[in-house]
Amino acid sequence: MIDVHVLGSGGALPQAGHTPATYWIVVDGEPLLVDPGPGALVRLAAAGLIPAGTDSIGTVLLSHLHPDHSLDLVALLFAAHSPLPVRTDPLRVWGPPGLLDLLDRFRSIYGSWLEPRSRRLEAGELQPGQALDVPGGGRCEAFAVDHPQDRLSGVCLGFRFLDADGRCAVYSGDTGPCGNLVEAARGADLLVVECSTPDELATPGHMAVSQVAELCRNSRPALTVLTHQYPPAAALDLASLIGASYDGRVVQAVDGDVFTLPHGTGDSS
Ligand SMILES: [Zn+2]
Repeated sequence: MIDVHVLGSGGALPQAGHTPATYWIVVDGEPLLVDPGPGALVRLAAAGLIPAGTDSIGTVLLSHLHPDHSLDLVALLFAAHSPLPVRTDPLRVWGPPGLLDLLDRFRSIYGSWLEPRSRRLEAGELQPGQALDVPGGGRCEAFAVDHPQDRLSGVCLGFRFLDADGRCAVYSGDTGPCGNLVEAARGADLLVVECSTPDELATPGHMAVSQVAELCRNSRPALTVLTHQYPPAAALDLASLIGASYDGRVVQAVDGDVFTLPHGTGDSS
């Protein structure tokens, strides 16, 4: 079983209902905090998803190192430095190559303030093609996407989450049209894909509406959820626009939406 809580369905520009990236993805009961953008901890707390505060967070996954997907890592580590948390197993943080350098740079500013007090930070870099076992029988596979970076890391990742029964939820991260994403999403039960702009504002390294429609036609996931909407995209009826050339199921996410696999077991759409 997989639950995908979309707590941040916007891009870097926050707006009501579409704040920067934050996803809480629960695979067979094991929660993963994916892309903690600015305000992620606050939104997790407000949604009631971390009743034990940072002690409710075991694993963090970063698709890439842009601040709108990673900035609350600092907030998380500083909160874990408080004397109040009691969890003792490691806090695991996984991300693309460059993550360890980013953490070193954060430490060069904040020093020991970012050292979790009751547990150890265990950080690791994921190469495209690498998979992580998720406690409980699930798996997370990383694949390379096309989102050019000129610092910290040249690699940006998307993720395929698989539960023990083989159900599959795919998260695109940030990317332009990309063969790896088509392959990862082919036949997926759920595709959470960025849809940053209308076509007239198409931006390299991101997906515009017609590019998402083409991806959907090529990969035909059972359900497509549109996220990472900048204000001009969020103002549109994106599902209808994509529906003009694609007959599959598409939902335009709003912060707070929850999607559950298998479908029909609590899916909010
Ligand atoms: Zn982004």
